[in-house]
Amino acid sequence: ESKQQGGNQVTYYSPDMKGKVLLRFEIENHLRTALQKKELFLCYQPLVDLKTGRVTGNEALLRWNHPHLGLVAPLEFIPLAEEIGVIEEIGAWVIQSACLQTKDWQRKGFGSLGVSVNVSARQFREPGFLQVVIDALKQASLEPEYLTLELTESTMLQNIDHSILTMKELQKLGVKVSIDDFGTGYSSLSYLRSLPINSLKIDKSFISNLQTDSNGFSIVRAIISMGRGLEVEVVAEGVETQEQAELLREMSCQYAQGFFIQKPLQSSDYEKGASEGQLTRYLPLKKG
Ligand code: C2E
Ligand code: MG
Ligand code: MG
Ligand code: MG
Repeated sequence: ESKQQGGNQVTYYSPDMKGKVLLRFEIENHLRTALQKKELFLCYQPLVDLKTGRVTGNEALLRWNHPHLGLVAPLEFIPLAEEIGVIEEIGAWVIQSACLQTKDWQRKGFGSLGVSVNVSARQFREPGFLQVVIDALKQASLEPEYLTLELTESTMLQNIDHSILTMKELQKLGVKVSIDDFGTGYSSLSYLRSLPINSLKIDKSFISNLQTDSNGFSIVRAIISMGRGLEVEVVAEGVETQEQAELLREMSCQYAQGFFIQKPLQSSDYEKGASEGQLTRYLPLKKG
């Protein structure tokens, strides 16, 4: 079975096509050299301001073009990269590449775009992590305010004191911190208040339930109003329809990302879309 990503012409390899043991061996073996062999690349998925429809930034999403298996999904190989100890190297490369690409697009006049980069737990805990971020910004001459690092609740809670320290250091640099997949973890509201974050991303499972029942609606509305109370920006991820985007805008959710707006794009496709002014499908409906 393979998963088609809406119009992306990309078929992810799925592990039940072959014995899982063999697959793991195959993947593990190749993962160690994937970076060197330039098999890794980033796709960029736009985030839009729901009020204006403007693209404010992009999330960098890692892809691996495996020599035999084709495209392997990040959820298949990132946990393995953590396990075999190559995530630090790969993660550093992701931050560097995302910063360089973003500066390049700013120079090309695509707007004052920011970039969001996912950080894995092990990468975040690594002693050299802050230096990796500092070096990447410097190398790209990117102002720190344009970089957002996305962490999940479970990453933050693994060692809460250390996490808070690191997040504060990042913010001192001017880098922003976001909670990814918000609502799927176990953080209590009191924890949330003590976390130095700039934004939270409502997990896509809540967005897909937005219209299915009144509970789904209430949960999303509650998260948005909580974000406002905590004075953090709120991003909805996994927006797949115009109706969802409209509902979110009416609920005063500030930003959105999802297949309806735009799928994750390779750099060349992104540039094509940006120069043709067709980067997103979302246009806020005028009222009245
Ligand atoms: P995430 O950070 O929550 O990223 C959003 C995921 O949702 C992406 O999957 C994206 O392609 C997908 N998505 C976007 N819009 C929609 C939509 O409208 N509907 C649905 N159903 N899905 C949508 P992807 O690229 O497969 O990445 C999966 C996860 O892998 C990411 O979840 C993130 O946790 C991790 N990941 C991706 N790139 C990196 C990376 O560079 N480093 C680390 N540590 N993790 C990464
Ligand atoms: Mg993310
Ligand atoms: Mg997410
Ligand atoms: Mg995630």
